[in-house]
Amino acid sequence: EEAKKAEPAKVLRVGTEPTFAPFEFQKEGSKEYTGFDMDLIRAIGKQMGYKVEIMNMGFDALIPALSSGNIDTVIAGMSITPERQEAVLFSAPYYRSGLVVMVQKNNDTIKGIEDLVGKRIAVQIGTTGAAKAESVKDAKVTAFNTNTEAAMELKNGGVDAVINDSPVVGYYLAQGGSADAKTVGDVLEAEEYGIAVKKGNDKLAAEIDKALAELKKNGEYDKIYKTWFGE
Ligand code: GLN
Repeated sequence: EEAKKAEPAKVLRVGTEPTFAPFEFQKEGSKEYTGFDMDLIRAIGKQMGYKVEIMNMGFDALIPALSSGNIDTVIAGMSITPERQEAVLFSAPYYRSGLVVMVQKNNDTIKGIEDLVGKRIAVQIGTTGAAKAESVKDAKVTAFNTNTEAAMELKNGGVDAVINDSPVVGYYLAQGGSADAKTVGDVLEAEEYGIAVKKGNDKLAAEIDKALAELKKNGEYDKIYKTWFGE
């Protein structure tokens, strides 16, 4: 009797932008994608019976890639916003976040977003931080392709501030960034991250939600959360 041929594994093509530690990044000298989002989507894929393939692209290219069908889903610390909901379908929220202002450590004039009027602000292109910066009166906003470049520009004194997600800034400061930088003011905007699929792909969104709910129930989500954020 002939052996049954194994079904080829279904592939879930996942787009991300990996300069967003601790959610998605590449450890120095490694090409591997690591982080909270990466662990979470691999666990979701496994739960769904898919092989997960991570694809690296610019943050502003993620939604267009979904729309054109080049990828099936996005996990990229992407905040659920009404504007994005016009274009994509989000899973249930999987992480609570917010925006903060980061300045050079020795800066004692900028104490919060209200002091950024007319200042130079670095952001990552296409992000909610970029939109926030654009709303500041007379600010000169420079949008970089990566968060790494935005942080570097602050360190080099090319800008007065960076606006980025609070857990990402926190991680950056904890990993050595606090030698030259600090956050000021309150968390600006409460946001929630969601996993995005193409609008109309309700089936895939439902599968992802089902897997996410299962991982929350069986303790796997908590395990991944603890790995990256402690208690
Ligand atoms: N959460 C922010 C947004 O959705 C930033 C995401 C990111 O830079 N990866 O715009």
